[in-house]
Amino acid sequence: MVIESSREKAVSPWQSQAVRIVAVKAEIPGVETYRLKFVDQGVEDAYSICPGQFNMLYMPGYGESAISASGYDDQNRELLQTVRAAGNVTRALSRLNVGDELGLRGPFGQGWPMEVAWGGHLILIAGGLGFAPIRSAIEAAIRHRTQFEQISILAGARSPDQLLYQDQYEQWKAAGAELRLTVDRATSQWNGNVGIVPLLVDRLKISNPATTTVMMCGPEVMMWYTAKSAIEQGISVERIWLSMERNMNCAIGHCGHCQFGPAFICKDGPVLRYDQIASYLKIKGL
Ligand SMILES: Cc1cc2nc3c(=O)[nH]c(=O)nc-3n(C[C@H](O)[C@H](O)[C@H](O)COP(=O)(O)OP(=O)(O)OC[C@H]3O[C@@H](n4cnc5c(N)ncnc54)[C@H](O)[C@@H]3O)c2cc1C
Repeated sequence: MVIESSREKAVSPWQSQAVRIVAVKAEIPGVETYRLKFVDQGVEDAYSICPGQFNMLYMPGYGESAISASGYDDQNRELLQTVRAAGNVTRALSRLNVGDELGLRGPFGQGWPMEVAWGGHLILIAGGLGFAPIRSAIEAAIRHRTQFEQISILAGARSPDQLLYQDQYEQWKAAGAELRLTVDRATSQWNGNVGIVPLLVDRLKISNPATTTVMMCGPEVMMWYTAKSAIEQGISVERIWLSMERNMNCAIGHCGHCQFGPAFICKDGPVLRYDQIASYLKIKGL
């Protein structure tokens, strides 16, 4: 079930649990969304996840990878994970079919602080595969549509065929969210924006910056410049949240792989407040 205010974990963070693939949806070339269901009903009952949190998906013989929840289907109790076949684990996962099982540990980390944005304009920004954790925030925002003055979804990709979740756009707009898209390279059929994601922020009408909140995920350079645009629009640094996707191993703050300044991304993040990490984002190679 999706929990939005509590960050408690009811399932052991040490133990991988068996999940079964109940559906696979091809999103864009090389990226698929898996619907996963716990094999053990007791585990399913105990499991809860907040938008923006992630799980460690385990492929025996290959290892584990951190993957953000891109959604949770409360009715069917199915977890959505959108995965790019990038390396060892994710390529092995991409060879599985409906009915196959894999392991899952989680949920981990701090998710999107949705309540912080209540009463104002919520701007959700995604670059590339960063759309996965943003999708879970979109679902949460739409579920509580009346809590927000306005919801804007801004997303960018290299080209139109790289934009994720295209079949959801009409549904999001019908639920009252504004959607603006941009691509680096247009095709002859594309009549939307061309350019980088920060330009979408520059062009957005923000009537009350003091109550506007930004949540974003994408390449770090994109997030850096997008945050700059948001600040120039008068949005407070304390209202800008980033999901950082750095390499990690244990997911429970032991191994140190994901240390970023004083923060461990696995347990203090992946969602972190801009002003708390801005000085570290500037350091090359950190
Ligand atoms: C919090 C968090 C959330 C995430 N959410 C998602 C998500 O929702 N969806 C998603 O698809 N990914 C997500 N990721 C990224 C994902 O965890 C990584 O891509 C992960 O490394 C994939 O594991 P893998 O074993 O398949 O790939 P790896 O084997 O780790 O390879 C990943 C990349 O590194 C390159 N690489 C591997 N080994 C080497 C090497 N020796 N030298 C040079 N390059 C190398 C590969 O070519 C590939 O591009 C997330 C990461 C974090 C931290």
